[in-house]
Amino acid sequence: MSPEAPVQTVLACSQCGRALAQSDLVHIAGNWVCADCKPAFLSRVMASGAAGASPLAWHYGGFWIRFGARMIDGLVFMIPIVVLAAVLLPNLIRARGQAPIAPNSAFAISGFLTFFVVFFLVGACYEILMLKYRSGTLGKMACGLRVMRSDGRSLSWGVCFGRFFMWNVVTSGIPYINSVLMLVSSIMLGVDDEKRALHDRVCDTRVIYKQSVA
Ligand SMILES: [Zn+2]
Repeated sequence: MSPEAPVQTVLACSQCGRALAQSDLVHIAGNWVCADCKPAFLSRVMASGAAGASPLAWHYGGFWIRFGARMIDGLVFMIPIVVLAAVLLPNLIRARGQAPIAPNSAFAISGFLTFFVVFFLVGACYEILMLKYRSGTLGKMACGLRVMRSDGRSLSWGVCFGRFFMWNVVTSGIPYINSVLMLVSSIMLGVDDEKRALHDRVCDTRVIYKQSVA
């Protein structure tokens, strides 16, 4: 007698996309659904699809997936900076070599400030435009997330700006205080039923998995 080694079939939850053993998933209405998504999915099925935009069916994005999305956005931003540096630095060094007078610190400071302002404005345009037209940055899109108002509407310009400002300036932009505020915001997100970070509470937004919106 040879005891059969249990073969674990790994399947993806149709709602959140997590890969789980088949034994951890249930089959409802032709879809594999994990235990976390089951209540929301059931209520959506029972409402026969009509309630797709209902917050009842939403599956909220937690800390790690949102952290991952921010990391992807960071990488997206590193690429143009590296390219820009690769193009500009050799020219700067050459210009310096030709200059009869050594560049003073005012030159360096103004250069740094210009870079900082341009970087900030490009970042603001990127996040605000992506929130407005795609309901999320490239990082959030890649992670299957989207940002909605609490009532299911997409974001207005004011909310897009407010959300950008709250996270990038208030929460993570002030030296020293930002580490405390980011920690507080992460804890708020982690313990909240609707996974609201500080900026989500201020702007009345929710970050949800795209699949949970019909
Ligand atoms: Zn799931």
